[in-house]
Amino acid sequence: MPSAPIPTAPSEPGPVPVVVDDRHHAHDPAYELNGGRVLEPRREVAARATRIREALVAAGHPVLEADAHDLAPIEAVHDPGLIAFLREGYDAWRAAGGGEVMIPDTFRSPVWARGGRASASPLAAPGWWVFDTCTPLVAGSYLAARAAVDIAMTGVAALRAGHDVVYGLTRPPGHHAGSDYLGGFCLFNHAAIAARALAADGPVAILDLDVHHGNGTQDVFWRDPQVHYVSVHADPDHLFPFFSGTTDEVGEGPGRGANRNLPLPHGTDDEGWLAAVDEAIAEVDARGASAVVVSLGFDAAAADPIGSLGVSAAGFAAAGRRLAQLERPTLLLQEGGYALEHIGGLACDVLAGWTGR
Ligand SMILES: [Zn+2]
Repeated sequence: MPSAPIPTAPSEPGPVPVVVDDRHHAHDPAYELNGGRVLEPRREVAARATRIREALVAAGHPVLEADAHDLAPIEAVHDPGLIAFLREGYDAWRAAGGGEVMIPDTFRSPVWARGGRASASPLAAPGWWVFDTCTPLVAGSYLAARAAVDIAMTGVAALRAGHDVVYGLTRPPGHHAGSDYLGGFCLFNHAAIAARALAADGPVAILDLDVHHGNGTQDVFWRDPQVHYVSVHADPDHLFPFFSGTTDEVGEGPGRGANRNLPLPHGTDDEGWLAAVDEAIAEVDARGASAVVVSLGFDAAAADPIGSLGVSAAGFAAAGRRLAQLERPTLLLQEGGYALEHIGGLACDVLAGWTGR
């Protein structure tokens, strides 16, 4: 059923449209394998989106159902093999004797000759496309990944319709997924997909405030000067994804200088985090982006069970205020945030900061 047309943009700051799609519930693996431990319940659960949605609705923000989109915007970022793996890999894995939750046991590795050969076995496929054990896949994962992209692309349409800010309640997160790999709870990289679509209209900035470095987003735009990636995150010497996120990663070729990493020491609080956010925002402003995509994670919060920074609710509200002061059309897309009792309030704090300016 088609959703209602995108409402007319208000002329004054007010409620922020929240784009949703309940199909994310289909991605519900029984457990996660993280840090050598089986986590049951998992960290990346459907209740994350439910809590945020309930809080935003209670705060008066209107809900907008996502419109369906075809594969074209996904194909503009992701390798056809990765798309096919997400769509068909689980059924093939089960038919070949794989367990109820698809988690790789054997990874391709650069230490093998030529980086390892592709195998015809469906049991090898997750080790080819997935880079960690903490991203379990099930029959409904593809549906959820498509839904998250539909949310992001509906947000793009809302910006084009004149909204100055839209909140896309995407789940699972996306910024750890690259063109031809996925991991870190992420399936399709919805922020990268939205940014590539918006880049047709002019230069775009992605401001990544999730506590983890967005290695996937960085890789997608590594050689692309049209999309400027700036990330504020915990030092990868302390936190996932460990193998990227340092200041010397600046992009290559035509993309050199369009990638900026601002890693922060373990335990950084509001003062240090907001100073880095200010630096990131100043750089986005200076480069003249015509639209901004924010990879909005709440796992930099002090209360987060897997983050390592100490940002408060007031810190997130201040970040919302600063983002509004950029005065660019802005698409906020949900990334991480795992403190179920806090993430709804933090989403409201960001939007209160934005609308209060
Ligand atoms: Zn994160």
